[in-house]
Amino acid sequence: MDKQTEFVLRAIEERDIRFVRLWFTDVLGFLKSVAIAPAELEGAFAEGIGFDGSAIEGLARVHESDMVAHPDPTTFQVLPWRGAEAGTARMFCDIKLPDGSPSYADPRFVLKRAMRKAADLGFSFYTHPEIEFFLLRDGLIPGQSPEPIDRGGFFDHTVTGPGSDFRRQAITILEQMGISVEFSHHEGAPGQQEIDLRYADGLSMADNIQTFRVVVREVARLHDIHATFMPKPFSEYPGSGMHTHMSLFSGDENAFYDGADEFHMSTIARQFTAGVLAHSREISAVTNQFVNSYKRLAGFTEAPSYVCWGRNNRSALVRVPGYKPQKGSSARIEVRSIDSAANPYLAYALVLRAGLAGVEGGYELPPEAEDDVWSLTDRERRALGIEPLPRNLDEAVGLMERSELAADTLGEHVFDFFLRNKRAEFEDYRSRVTPFELERLLPVI
Ligand code: GLU
Ligand code: MG
Ligand code: MG
Repeated sequence: MDKQTEFVLRAIEERDIRFVRLWFTDVLGFLKSVAIAPAELEGAFAEGIGFDGSAIEGLARVHESDMVAHPDPTTFQVLPWRGAEAGTARMFCDIKLPDGSPSYADPRFVLKRAMRKAADLGFSFYTHPEIEFFLLRDGLIPGQSPEPIDRGGFFDHTVTGPGSDFRRQAITILEQMGISVEFSHHEGAPGQQEIDLRYADGLSMADNIQTFRVVVREVARLHDIHATFMPKPFSEYPGSGMHTHMSLFSGDENAFYDGADEFHMSTIARQFTAGVLAHSREISAVTNQFVNSYKRLAGFTEAPSYVCWGRNNRSALVRVPGYKPQKGSSARIEVRSIDSAANPYLAYALVLRAGLAGVEGGYELPPEAEDDVWSLTDRERRALGIEPLPRNLDEAVGLMERSELAADTLGEHVFDFFLRNKRAEFEDYRSRVTPFELERLLPVI
């Protein structure tokens, strides 16, 4: 038994843990959980826990549905909101096939494989996300517009409403679970919050994001409100992005930093950024995976609509933080397309592989976009070589279908499942009569 496993078994005894939840993620990013009694844990570490994978979206082809969940002891954490007595803890799992090989359908494995590719090129991958979400009054009625919990705006100190109490409690719980928070503030729209996590390696961060979503929902419930990561719940307000700062390290050195460069960007940083831009359209179906995601990208709300980069340009898809990094170690780029409802494992795997394709292929970084790209005409944008992001899920799926990078990064099974699922989502949407049509047509035609 290794040290980590021993540590977990001891912690369970000392901290009176009665339930251990095993967590894993389906292809669309939804968290799954099965609780086991502590007595089962030694067996679970040795052999895994078998379950029927065909019951879970995208996890297994029906004829080979046996899957085995192997808890990762390094991810053991007590769930603080369940109370100290007869407590509950969780571990993330790796999903394997009965023969012990990793499951082709496990998003955690997809990200591990992409990070191994980075390691083969000599890099480790670090990220920190700025996670935006809405707090809404309880009592949602599906199909009806929700009501935000406050009327606050960007960085407002809201005296009334549960927003700041909510943030304090959520952050305390995250810190207790070993997830460090860097900033938090009220975002631009009523009820909208942002919490930024301190950087970690890509895999730990994807796990942290999954935990974050659970914590935020649980704390909202304690305050009798509802939290949503839906990309664009209101037509009239900005949506919720998950801007992610990224860097590559070679050993202890930040490979994105070059003090001699005018933007302090190394050649690797430029090539990586060029890769992210060049492949951003074909990976949109994953970074922005719902019909609703494309409403956020429709323009003028600080979410990107066009493929370009800039320093202080909030309309850019990739922003290079404009100030001179004090230390080389903090050099990074900010990818602004990803939204708060993306599957973090798959989205990070694809953005990483897009960036690495730029490094491997020696892609050239196009010139910085200095203007607000929304205010340019189509012709001006074309002259500058600035392409639009897909305008809807249908277009995004069409682009992904032809993407070798996406097929290779996701693997055949996830790639096919994803495309099928997203085509079906768009077809369902396409056939729906919306309030837009009723409002515009019924009175006049
Ligand atoms: N809410 C904006 C988005 O959807 C981002 C606002 C900001 O933090 O700049 O990306
Ligand atoms: Mg923000
Ligand atoms: Mg940002």
